[in-house]
Amino acid sequence: MIQSRDPFRFASVIGPERTDALLSLAEEARLLLAGKCVFNINSTAAGGGVAEMLHVLLGYLRHMGIDARWLVIEADAPFFAVTKRLHNHLYGDPGDGGPLGPAEHDVYERTMAANGHDVAASARAGDVVVLHDPQTAGLAQRLKSLGCYVVWRSHVGLDEQNEHSAVGWEFLRQYLEPFVDHYVFTDARFSPSWVPEDRCSIIWPSIDPFSPKNQELSDVTVEAILTHVGIVSGRVGDTTYERIDGSPGRVESYCDVIRTGPPPTPEIPLVVQISRWDRMKDMVGVMSAFASYVDSGREAQLVLAGPVVTAVADDPEGGAVLQECWRRWRELPHAVRRRVQLVCVPMHDLDENAVIVNALQRHAAVVSQKSLAEGFGLTIAEAMFKGVPVVASAVGGIVDQVIDSTTGFLIDDPSDLSAFGTAVCRLLDDPDLAHRFGEAGRGEALATHLGDTHLERWLGVIREVLDAGH
Ligand code: UDP
Repeated sequence: MIQSRDPFRFASVIGPERTDALLSLAEEARLLLAGKCVFNINSTAAGGGVAEMLHVLLGYLRHMGIDARWLVIEADAPFFAVTKRLHNHLYGDPGDGGPLGPAEHDVYERTMAANGHDVAASARAGDVVVLHDPQTAGLAQRLKSLGCYVVWRSHVGLDEQNEHSAVGWEFLRQYLEPFVDHYVFTDARFSPSWVPEDRCSIIWPSIDPFSPKNQELSDVTVEAILTHVGIVSGRVGDTTYERIDGSPGRVESYCDVIRTGPPPTPEIPLVVQISRWDRMKDMVGVMSAFASYVDSGREAQLVLAGPVVTAVADDPEGGAVLQECWRRWRELPHAVRRRVQLVCVPMHDLDENAVIVNALQRHAAVVSQKSLAEGFGLTIAEAMFKGVPVVASAVGGIVDQVIDSTTGFLIDDPSDLSAFGTAVCRLLDDPDLAHRFGEAGRGEALATHLGDTHLERWLGVIREVLDAGH
């Protein structure tokens, strides 16, 4: 269920000029899409960046009077095992090492055929359908045959293609090339060579300043939430926040926390990485870097947080990756182990999950995103928006997001634990520097990461697709 969201709330954040532009945009969108439906199709309703964004953007479109709908494919474990392997390949990694051959095509196509029937029950000729990521690519043919305009939006990205990514793209090509009207990537480097440049757009994701994930929270509320869920031992207090539908919510669940000893007091600086439990996010690497290079004299602690592992439907490796983190955590010397906690944030109430993440990001002294590959780090945009300095790997879209030595530190080699640890220490040791980076990050996020810019780019794509009338 998509909640309609009034985009003119943005006025308080973006100022009158951008608000006027947004007004004209809404008018144009209504005219352009009169009588049409805009479908977005992805593979999970919760967890990860795509679901996060769809909730918000589609809410704004609906408020603008556009019939924007969201469908989530239904699939079983064998399908997600194949698509996870595919996802890992596209990120240049062999994943579980299994093949992507005829048997995998078969599994993939069977699920796509079944979902094609469901989609065909809703989509009509002339509708615009945005398919997200490899999990939905196989629907393009069916949609095209229905007379829909088909856009494929890839959220994955690898700077330099390698043998594994080539295998991944070869798997997908036959499902996309003959049927897709337009492609959208996060960065021009991410598109394979067979994608025609004149039918390809580059769009950055955006964040919503008013969602539970990013809304303002007072220091007292942040402390109350983190104390309630068990991450920090501070003052117990009011955990009320505003739900996505505008009604009041209260944080009532607890996090699953793996830790030894009591929670840190609120004064202890926290280094925080929040990600799905995905190997590409290198949570284990963050832990190793922290253990080796951030010494106990600094008092800082590390929080590695992700969703409860059963919650993200399209991410079958989550449990195994959390296990790896837990194993590595158990191996740490006791003195280090007591400064590292692994946190699983409950997902049964997405607003509650989001506001817990929000509180953790606001409380962080440093947010890290030590990904080995990354299309675009929403967590980085979220941290920047909250004025928190970041330390991140110089990979994929992150390179364009973080201004090195201005809004954070970029680590050239994602496997360089020493460089990562040193950058974290510089920010922990120099609160003025951390503050300056945070402020600069907030300015950048306001200028480039908000929904008005994002909607404008999408409208541009839709205009192009309809004009071309493929
Ligand atoms: N996230 C969340 N709860 C969690 C872990 C992550 O809401 O327990 C969110 C996080 O705040 C961000 C998104 O999931 O909005 C992750 O997006 P990102 O682009 O960083 O990575 P992706 O998951 O898309 O690879």
